[in-house]
Amino acid sequence: MKLTTPDIDGAAPRAAHRTELVGLTREELTEFAVANNMRPFRGQQLVEWIYRHGVNDFAAMTNIARVDRERFAEIATISTLSVKREERSTDGTRKFLFELADRKTVETVLIPEGERRTLCLSTQVGCAMGCRFCLTAQQGLERHLTAGEIVDQLLSVQRLTGERMTNAVFMGMGEPLHNFDAVVRAVQVLTDDRGIGLSARRVTVSTSGLVPKIHDLIHAQGVRFALAVSLNATTDTVRDEVMPINRRYPIRELVGALEAYSRERRDMGFVEYVLLGGVNDTVADAHRLANLLRRVRCKINLIPYNAVAGAAYEAPTGEAVEDFRQILLAEGYSVFTRKARGDDISAACGQLRQETGG
Ligand code: SAH
Ligand code: SF4
Repeated sequence: MKLTTPDIDGAAPRAAHRTELVGLTREELTEFAVANNMRPFRGQQLVEWIYRHGVNDFAAMTNIARVDRERFAEIATISTLSVKREERSTDGTRKFLFELADRKTVETVLIPEGERRTLCLSTQVGCAMGCRFCLTAQQGLERHLTAGEIVDQLLSVQRLTGERMTNAVFMGMGEPLHNFDAVVRAVQVLTDDRGIGLSARRVTVSTSGLVPKIHDLIHAQGVRFALAVSLNATTDTVRDEVMPINRRYPIRELVGALEAYSRERRDMGFVEYVLLGGVNDTVADAHRLANLLRRVRCKINLIPYNAVAGAAYEAPTGEAVEDFRQILLAEGYSVFTRKARGDDISAACGQLRQETGG
């Protein structure tokens, strides 16, 4: 007589070994299909269902033979983040608090502008870099996100809103280049034209300045995106103070890495510059910045400081921001001043953290 116990025992380890598919590249999904005795095009079909159509149920993959769908359901999972809270700003910005499998949380911000839908992705729970003006820093680093958890932020937001994202910026919680492999893989998935299909020009990875990783990126094969460096100061004295990572990789090395990046990859770089009132927003700073970037092909984004609890900085005056911008324009740079988006729901740059009070 058959007992139920062996079945239960048999099922448990099998479930534990199921492979999570979100975050795997097209090549990896193809290998997965082949390793499970299926034809390679099953991998391609998974790319289309999971990434292009956002389907998270094998039963719905109607062009895959039923026997293979059932097999996939036994050996694989398609995870979805659970949304714990959503907040909407009066300017249309939406902030999602996602819970991960281990109950840690991250925030993802959707910024609509005309036809454009930009998603600001988190790459870590917390951050190890300790920048003095940033709320995420106060949490320290809890852990890296997997490539799947990064990609899933986009799939989940698309599912929740019914809208397709046009741009992705790695500017949420965490330092992307500190989680290098997962971020590179996530970019590959986001820009695969048979899947999510974002244009590489519309994917931007922002770094606080992990110089050796920027050099690694120069040689990274099969992945394209725009690189942004958060410079945020024009002297090592000030940058050491506001961004402790500068003590390891000072301004000269960082600017050199960005210059090499834009030269070797022929990609446009971006320089992000958070203006902290009275700290790095003077006329002398603007001239120093223009000199520093003389040999770098880049555009400059000025970000007026957004207030953060526990940080002892002030926003720059409107006049200081405009003077700063005019000096850089006169020096021939293209300069944009970033509007604070979603600051009424703490969704603006530097205001993201693990759990918000409500
Ligand atoms: N860790 C990466 C990306 C996430 S931070 C980085 O530092 O580049 C995204 C951007 O927000 C960075 O340019 C950072 O300098 C900026 N930022 C952080 N705190 C801010 C604040 N309080 N006000 C305005 N911008 C801030
Ligand atoms: Fe980390 Fe970027 Fe915040 Fe610095 S600004 S603490 S690198 S998330």
